[in-house]
Amino acid sequence: MESISTDTIIHNEHCHAIKKILIIEDTTYLLNAISNDLIDSFAIVCDTAENEVQAMSLLDKNDYDLIICDLYLPDSSGNFIGYLLRKKHKLLIITASEDEDQRLKLTELPIIDYLYKSDAKSIIKYINNTVARLISNQKSYVVICDDSKLSRMKLIQIIKCQNIQYIQFDDGLKAYNFIINTKIKINLLITDIYMPHLDGINLTRKIRLKYDENELPILSFSASTNISLVPKILKSGANDFITKPIYNEEFLTRFNACLDRNSLYTKNIELLKRLNELATTDNLTKLYNRNFFYSTISHIVSNAERKKTHYGVLMIDIDNFKNINDTCGHSNGDIVLFESANILKLIARDSDLIFRWGGEEFLILIQNTNLDDLLFFSERVRSNIESTCIELPDYREDINITISIGVSINENYSNIDNVINQADKNLYLAKNSGKNQVIYRALDS
Ligand code: GH3
Ligand code: MG
Ligand code: MG
Repeated sequence: MESISTDTIIHNEHCHAIKKILIIEDTTYLLNAISNDLIDSFAIVCDTAENEVQAMSLLDKNDYDLIICDLYLPDSSGNFIGYLLRKKHKLLIITASEDEDQRLKLTELPIIDYLYKSDAKSIIKYINNTVARLISNQKSYVVICDDSKLSRMKLIQIIKCQNIQYIQFDDGLKAYNFIINTKIKINLLITDIYMPHLDGINLTRKIRLKYDENELPILSFSASTNISLVPKILKSGANDFITKPIYNEEFLTRFNACLDRNSLYTKNIELLKRLNELATTDNLTKLYNRNFFYSTISHIVSNAERKKTHYGVLMIDIDNFKNINDTCGHSNGDIVLFESANILKLIARDSDLIFRWGGEEFLILIQNTNLDDLLFFSERVRSNIESTCIELPDYREDINITISIGVSINENYSNIDNVINQADKNLYLAKNSGKNQVIYRALDS
């Protein structure tokens, strides 16, 4: 249990990592198929048993974070599930029975879920989804908001089996203040509708001003039979609605759908971030790539023109880099490029943008500068590179390198292509007049 303010407690004592699973199933091919699929998909250990005797022997010697158990085993004693529940195991039950009474009994048990034995593919997929959810739930948070303690207790009883952390509130305003101010990423809000201070509809409306339906799903519920309530709550931004008294299985299905939606959203955001990183950065040096230069430059140029400030360009090229490759090897050449980029990153200010322009060529774009500062900075870059020893782990000695720099500045608001061309010309001059130096010539008119 973790306290985050005087009256806000995160309950997570029922959560734990899913690392070791026991599968108990008498159909050998299904048992092996489930186990193989889980081992392939997650970093977990799976033990298998085909009957109660084998299972009891494994349970004597091991602790399991999850037990997937067939309801009817060949040597069934009739009270095995009860035994597992008394031992507080997290339990996912598989059953071939479609008996309605049996089903209702199962839904009242403190288990993760139960599933019918349909075709093997569907069973494997369902179990895989459930385990994936249990793993991600351990790091997820659900906020429960209901002024009825009894109703909260019922929800908590179901939620606890799902390995998810929860925080509870008895009024909408407290829940709102917590969600808006916390640094924790809340994955789901479950809210009652009629509550003191701030009702569920207004709570939902206020939350939607900051978080959309994917970022923070809202599952609302009410005992009201007013038929206009459901469209009203859905229009206010709730993802789903459920009527009280809550029927466990229906609640769990809707609860899981909301969490899956949030988890898909998080995965997509991470994927987009990664895609953006791949599109804008150079893999070897982790500097911006040339592509990103062209997508960001128009914004920087128009900003400089609007504010009547200057931007400068340093076109940098490592001297005699081909020799380094030839004498130290290509992979050491890569290390030299990586380390040179790191030196540039260390010298540059946050507002300076550094690009890998080509093979052993870098461009630094300096915003809001003047010629004196630009030349002072350029000389600092040159001398820092010259004086830094680069360690090459699999070469007999460390090496020092030098660079040549061509500098230019947009003093008369010339367009960016002219500024880059002039930096290029100045770099050429630096190379042709001895290397390891900074050259500045004003823009050719
Ligand atoms: P200068 O002083 O005139 O710039 O000579 P230089 O040898 O540095 O320049 P040149 O253009 O002749 O050679 C650059 C070399 O950089 C050739 C190319 O194989 C190498 N190079 C380009 N990209 C990479 C890279 O990613 N890794 C390594 N190791 N070498 C690269
Ligand atoms: Mg070079
Ligand atoms: Mg070159």
